[in-house]
Amino acid sequence: MSKKEHVLIVGGGFGGVKAALELADDPRFSVAVLSDDTDLRYYPTLFHTATGGKRANSSIPLTKIFAGKPVEIIQGTAVSLDRKARTVTTADGHVHKFDSLILALGVVTNYFGIPGLSNYSYSIKTQAEVARFKAHLHKQLVEDEQPDLNYVIIGAGPTGIELAGALPSYLQRIIKNHGLKPRSVHIDLIEAAPRLLPRLPRDTSRMVRRQLRRLGIKLYLGSVVQGETTDELTVSGKPIRSHTVIWTAGVTNHPFFADNHFVLTGRGKVAVNVYLQAEDNIFVIGDNANTPYSGLAQTALHDGEFVAQNLRRQADGKGSKSYVAKQPVTVIPAGPHWAAVCWGSLRIYGWLGWTLREAADLVGFHDLEPWHLAAKQWLSEFATQDDCVVCAIAESK
Ligand SMILES: Cc1cc2nc3c(=O)[nH]c(=O)nc-3n(C[C@H](O)[C@H](O)[C@H](O)COP(=O)(O)OP(=O)(O)OC[C@H]3O[C@@H](n4cnc5c(N)ncnc54)[C@H](O)[C@@H]3O)c2cc1C
Repeated sequence: MSKKEHVLIVGGGFGGVKAALELADDPRFSVAVLSDDTDLRYYPTLFHTATGGKRANSSIPLTKIFAGKPVEIIQGTAVSLDRKARTVTTADGHVHKFDSLILALGVVTNYFGIPGLSNYSYSIKTQAEVARFKAHLHKQLVEDEQPDLNYVIIGAGPTGIELAGALPSYLQRIIKNHGLKPRSVHIDLIEAAPRLLPRLPRDTSRMVRRQLRRLGIKLYLGSVVQGETTDELTVSGKPIRSHTVIWTAGVTNHPFFADNHFVLTGRGKVAVNVYLQAEDNIFVIGDNANTPYSGLAQTALHDGEFVAQNLRRQADGKGSKSYVAKQPVTVIPAGPHWAAVCWGSLRIYGWLGWTLREAADLVGFHDLEPWHLAAKQWLSEFATQDDCVVCAIAESK
């Protein structure tokens, strides 16, 4: 029997997992996924977990995804690449060989060097960050009995808007569960660009802006964050008092690529050819690759599938296909039972948009799991979870 081609996939997120699932059942390949996290972070529903939803709704253990499949899961942080020896070395010094390498490491938070932000702001990119954020909300509302005058979200892209829409009802839930004096909450949303959702069409920006105003969210457009201290944020020269500032405004490509001398484009993404290859036998996909719709889970899934299919075509002795970018469907929830859908020239707003988003989440889970597990994961979207015992008891009634 001829030797199997060993495919090492670095990154257990959307792109890496999809590529592994596509190759797993092909006996001509041995597949290993090297990741620094035990779970796939399902980012699209992370805002939901951050506002009182279940952890399981936005996190899927890799062991569950690959249960019964011949995929080796390796825990480790990739730090260096030896192109000649065809190996990747992890922070703990382990060396992993490959015949083909697929890199899908995602992006990292970027504070653009704005003073104080990395120390004092909150972020919701990992489960640990989400848990810290929820604990903070409880502490200042319940323990300190000093609710913030302003809850400030920086960045009016999809994540900032989703969070701004969901945060008021979560804060009200905490207030009710703990029997605190009823009070209104004040949410500010800050964006440096002159309009929210600057990467989407203007009519969508306008409709989402109207919806956020209906929810009582104050928008600061064309406003530049200049610094943060323990109790104040400076925005375009003016102070906003707050102890709860959430940064959703900036990411940058994973440092692995600059550290390992990949060719980067002006926007810091890795230059790839029409096969998403950066170099011989090295593929770069998802958020890391310079493709038209890089930065979306849908693109990472598409890329993972595309590269796996080409590897299988090569094994069949066929030529590789060229990459065709897939136009994403953008669905942005903004408050309870309201979402904006933007797909080419089609626009849907409101309850129907929200219904489509729910359906999209179910299909999204099924991209990674069989239907029965995807349905279970999706149903967890309607349940709540908090480390706070008082909230947990109140919500179990
Ligand atoms: C809060 C939030 C909400 C989002 N909402 C949406 C949405 O609604 N719709 C949408 O389409 N997109 C959304 N996105 C974007 C989407 O999640 C990303 O585009 C997608 O995750 C990219 O997939 P990826 O495989 O490239 O990277 P990721 O899914 O980020 O996976 C990267 C993996 O690499 C691992 N890793 C990192 N460094 C190392 C290392 N050195 N060694 C080993 N492993 C490493 C990480 O642990 C992770 O498992 C959202 C993103 C965020 C942050």
